[in-house]
Amino acid sequence: MTLDTSSQTRPTHGTIESVDVLVVGYGPVGAALAALLGRYGVSTLVIDKADDILMSPRAIALDNEALRILQATGLADDAFDRIVIPQVRMLCPHVGLFGRVNTRGDIDGHPKLVTFYQPDLERALRALVASHASVRTWLATEMIGFVDEGDCVTVALRESGGRERTVRARYLIGADGAGSQVRKAIGQGFTGQTYAEDWLIVDARNVPGDFDHVEFICDSQRPTPHMVAPGGRTRWEFMLRPGETREQME
Ligand SMILES: Cc1cc2nc3c(=O)[nH]c(=O)nc-3n(C[C@H](O)[C@H](O)[C@H](O)COP(=O)(O)OP(=O)(O)OC[C@H]3O[C@@H](n4cnc5c(N)ncnc54)[C@H](O)[C@@H]3O)c2cc1C
Repeated sequence: MTLDTSSQTRPTHGTIESVDVLVVGYGPVGAALAALLGRYGVSTLVIDKADDILMSPRAIALDNEALRILQATGLADDAFDRIVIPQVRMLCPHVGLFGRVNTRGDIDGHPKLVTFYQPDLERALRALVASHASVRTWLATEMIGFVDEGDCVTVALRESGGRERTVRARYLIGADGAGSQVRKAIGQGFTGQTYAEDWLIVDARNVPGDFDHVEFICDSQRPTPHMVAPGGRTRWEFMLRPGETREQME
């Protein structure tokens, strides 16, 4: 296990640690929540089974509502790079440009649409969390189960080295992503529908040209969102057809 803040004394092996809130998962949701809780001085422990931020390209766009939540955590506007998107265009291979959404301007002081690089945001949130004395962070530590005791939750954790430990929390938060074990355990499903297709996501750097917006290439055979992102990045997302693999596309 890696302790990434040194603000608190670590429990000795065999003791049961108590906190008000145990957040399982230190992705953007867990990190934003930990920053909010830290801002209010709530005794919090955040754990993640990974030992660092996941570097694969993922979320790329945020709207004004999301930016407002990040503002509420105390994150400074310049804590992570973003590009304000002036318009979203819809194109079709047969008729060309057929739709345009004007995304210029602000709502409640925040741009309507920005692109960003998820690892930058996560790094900024983690730095903010580390500034709060009431929040501890244990990485390389997996939640392996929990028992609802009524007035608290007893949670079993396992460090990557195999050592097991127990934490008692007044509240347990499942911020453990799309395959959330916490959600499954409490019978909380995801509503809505999703698509079966896989997508190939390509983040390229230093692509020539002055492309500055988001476009959706509405080709029924190969729908392709395309957008500019910070750090000199351009992203394409390609829907894969049945039988196609990432390796074939490369
Ligand atoms: C290709 C792609 C493009 C995307 N584009 C966008 C976008 O444009 N805009 C947008 O808003 N979103 C986008 N998303 C989604 C976005 O990346 C995710 O919604 C976001 O990462 C979810 O954050 P999270 O904190 O809920 O979960 P995650 O980032 O998945 O974090 C969950 C964390 O929980 C940890 N964990 C899981 N189980 C345990 C356990 N038992 N014990 C301890 N730790 C555990 C994991 O290690 C992980 O670090 C995209 C996703 C992908 C894949």
